[in-house]
Order: sequence, then C-alpha cells, then structure tokens
Amino acid sequence: MENFDLVIIGGGIVGTATFSEAVRLGINTCLLEEANDVSAYATKANSGIVHSGYDPIPGSLMAKFNLEGNKMYKDMCKRLGVDYLECGTLTVSNEEGREKLLALKERGEQNGVPGLRIIEKDELRKMEPNLNPNMTIALFAPTGGVVSPYSVCIGLAEEGMINGGTVKLKFKVSSITKQSDGTYVLSDGEKSVQAKYVINCAGPNSSDVNKLVGAKTFDMHYVKGEYILLDKSTKGYITHPIFPLPTPVSKGILANITVHGNIMFGPTAVECEKDDRSVTVESIANIKSQVSGTMDSPNFKKTIKLFAGIRVKAGKDFEIAEDEKNKNFFYAVGICSPGLTAAPAIAKYFIEKLQEKGIKTHKINFKKRTPYINTEHMSEKELDELIKKNPNYGKIVCRCEHISEGEIIDALNSPLKPVSIDALKRRVRPTMGRCQGSFCIPKLIRIMANERRLKKEKVLQDQDGSELVVGDIKKGGPYED
Ligand SMILES: Cc1cc2nc3c(=O)[nH]c(=O)nc-3n(C[C@H](O)[C@H](O)[C@H](O)COP(=O)(O)OP(=O)(O)OC[C@H]3O[C@@H](n4cnc5c(N)ncnc54)[C@H](O)[C@@H]3O)c2cc1C
Repeated sequence: MENFDLVIIGGGIVGTATFSEAVRLGINTCLLEEANDVSAYATKANSGIVHSGYDPIPGSLMAKFNLEGNKMYKDMCKRLGVDYLECGTLTVSNEEGREKLLALKERGEQNGVPGLRIIEKDELRKMEPNLNPNMTIALFAPTGGVVSPYSVCIGLAEEGMINGGTVKLKFKVSSITKQSDGTYVLSDGEKSVQAKYVINCAGPNSSDVNKLVGAKTFDMHYVKGEYILLDKSTKGYITHPIFPLPTPVSKGILANITVHGNIMFGPTAVECEKDDRSVTVESIANIKSQVSGTMDSPNFKKTIKLFAGIRVKAGKDFEIAEDEKNKNFFYAVGICSPGLTAAPAIAKYFIEKLQEKGIKTHKINFKKRTPYINTEHMSEKELDELIKKNPNYGKIVCRCEHISEGEIIDALNSPLKPVSIDALKRRVRPTMGRCQGSFCIPKLIRIMANERRLKKEKVLQDQDGSELVVGDIKKGGPYED
C-alpha cells in the first residue's frame, strides 16, 4: 500500500488547488479522483468568473474566501501559464434598481472589495454599446475577471505532478478506515492508499465521503445551471461579464465572455438530481427571454452548444473544517459559487491548518509548468520555424479552432495524459468551434488510437462506456493512417 503525508479526495478546482499548494511546500501528496480526468464535475461547466466579492453575505466563509481567492488568481494564472482576463464585471439595471445596486455596492465595500463604482447611462453605453437601452445604470467591479475553469484546474494538477505529487484517476474512494495509529486508509475496493492527513474535496459526494469515516454529514442540494454558448464570430459583442440584479437563489442569467472569445448566456438555476446535466426547452426559452431584457439583439443563431453544470449546496455558506470526531480529517462541502474564485484561498487555508498541526514542509526545487503550444496566436515566422522543426504543427486537424496535429500530440503526452476526446478538448480545444467536431473527430480518434496504441473502437468521448465508433464501414476512411 502506498503511503503519503496527505491524501486529497476530488480533482475539482478545490482539490487541485490544494494539491498544488501542498506539493509546492514539499508535502508528499496524493490526489484521488473518481473520473478519468480532473475537472469532471462542477469545475468543467460554470461561468468562469473570478468574482470580485460584492455578492456574498459579509462575515460568511464565502465572502472571506472569495475576496482572498480573487486577490490570488492573477498571479496563480501567470504561474500556471493559463489565460486570465482582467476585464471587471458589470451588474446592470434600469433606474428602478438603483437602490438595489447601491445596496450591493455597500455590501461589497463591507466585504472589502476595492474600486466598486456606480456607472451612469452615458458611460455605461460607451462601455457596452449592445446593452438593452432600458439598462441605464450599473455597478462596476474592476477586480472581477474571467478564466477557463478547466484550464486552471488541469494546470494545477499538472503543476503538482511535475513537482512530485501523485494523481490517481479512476479512484473512487468507497471506504475510509481509521487505523489505531490515527492514520487513514482510503480504498476504491481494489487499491488502497494511506495517509496521516486527509482533505475531502469530493464536490457532489463530499457529504457521502464524510459519512464513510463517520464525519459530519450535510443535507445536499443540487441546482442545475444551463447555458447557451455562441461561436467566436460574436467576439466583441460585449467586453465584460454582464449580470442582472441577483436573485435570492442565484446571481441571475448573465451575458458573459470566455477567455477564448465566445459569448455565453446563462446559467439558469433549477433544482435537480446530482447527475442531471440535461438542458430543457423551457430553460433555453427562459435564458433567451432574460438575456433579451439586459441585452440588445443577442444573436442566438450563432449558438454552437447548450450545456449544464451543477451547483452543490449544503446550506447558505461553504462548510469548511476539520471534522470534530476525526482528527486530521478535513472537508470542503457545499462549495457552490463563488467556489472557483475561492479555491486558491481555501487551499491556502487547508495547508496552513496542516502546518499548525505539525505537517512537515520544506522548500522544493520548484519546476514551472510549460503551457501548451498554441499555434493560432503565433506569427507566421514563428509558425514557419516550428513547422520546420516538426511538420505535425503544420497539419491542421481542427479547422474551426485552428489546431494542429502537433498540438494534439503534445497534449496527449502532457503530464496528466488525457484519455478521452473531451479531456483533449479541455486541454487544446479541438471540437470547441463552430462544427463541434463534425470534421475533426475522425482524425482525433485516429491520432489518439495511434498515440495510445489503442484500437479506435476503444477511444472514448468522455468516461468509460462512451466509445465513439464500432468499426469501419469502408476501407481507406479517415481512421486509417
Ligand atoms: C452553473 C454554475 C456556474 C458557476 N459559476 C461560477 C463562477 O462564475 N465563479 C465561481 O467562482 N464559481 C462558480 N461556480 C461554482 C464553481 O464551479 C464550484 O464552486 C467549483 O467548481 C467547485 O469545485 P470543487 O472542487 O469543490 O468540486 P467539483 O468540481 O465538483 O469536484 C469534485 C470532484 O470530486 C470527485 N469525486 C466525487 N466523489 C469522489 C470519490 N468518492 N472519490 C474520488 N473522487 C470523487 C468528482 O468526480 C469531482 O471531479 C459555478 C457553478 C455552477 C454549477
């Protein structure tokens, strides 16, 4: 059985941020993730906003970790080599909402959010000319930003791995046994690992995982957020995430930007089952109607994808603590929004607690992660030089996103090797464009099968059981070399 100082359960943003923080302090750490990739649940499907922190109730854990996390994000993204858009956010309203916006500003100031400002009609129109003309006032939060959430999560996992941490995928923790010496043995039914310290960041299953060791349990609720994603030809329609006034259940349906240049509308807030990622006709109609209230002529014809993410709630606030009955067993439960923003601060908090408890840390010879090559943003000269070194960078596989075979092969050989087309997509974006993979999936299957020495029939779209093809219908097709 492998022995670690620290085991983290769950490879979402909270787990991977904690993993990277621990490894960078020289803690012998193992991350266990049930799925075949990190970022498999809430972290892969959310709005990607690094919230400034005006929304959470003052004094709550949400407010504390939101503020601290927001301050850490830009440097963290720089360190990881992933995009961070420093754009600020706008919460817009008609004149009737002025008092509510002022109250939000006051709440934000109580939370310590810097630079909050009320923007009046003329300035607002200059900032966002495509707002619905009824929107005449806004709260501007300059410290809000936008990231690609799964890129940050993958970056953190890779950073931890290249610095000596261990990631075990397809390891669903199904039993936790406390030994007489106080250490914990965690098992998936076949394999086991042992550690003195455990941090449970298992998102949707975090209360169930607590139950495995007799720790505190929570009444969990799942709230689905559905989205409409437009293609990149809509880039520039807006330049900030645009929120309506928040409702008691959510931050409302927003018009949003992605780091890659798409426009996105959503999310809804619908109570759901833990694994219900369906998108309903009613919800799409609701998004369209709400967005048309804040925006002028949104071009829904440019829609390329509908998708949903699931918020995990355990009450009104985050539940983050060491369990009262189980020494050295920590948990993060009910990490709904702003959990993406809060993650680096939650990670820091956990590691500080472990240090107080005497976990040994030491300075490591830190290795910086190498970001993926992105030929789309290279000059012609740079690209020519690259192609001379390796002609695979000149073979375009995904025409919509302009991704070469070289970039795909690099991603397949990256530290946390992707084992599905979706995992590849989260690394270098094939299938993310207008055609959503209609043209490139056959080529991706061939490249993945070749690199992994797999039969093409074994190539997965996502998790086990999602094989894409059953065989050839004619010789010489795109699957053949
Ligand atoms: C629609 C929507 C919009 C959002 N927008 C924002 C936003 O703009 N900004 C923001 O800050 N936050 C936002 N959030 C919140 C944010 O996405 C979450 O707070 C965050 O992703 C939670 O991360 P996590 O690591 O706690 O959980 P998760 O990402 O759910 O990760 C938990 C992981 O644990 C794994 N796991 C579960 N059980 C086990 C087990 N037994 N053994 C091993 N592994 C296990 C799961 O497979 C999963 O990968 C949004 C959320 C949603 C759904």
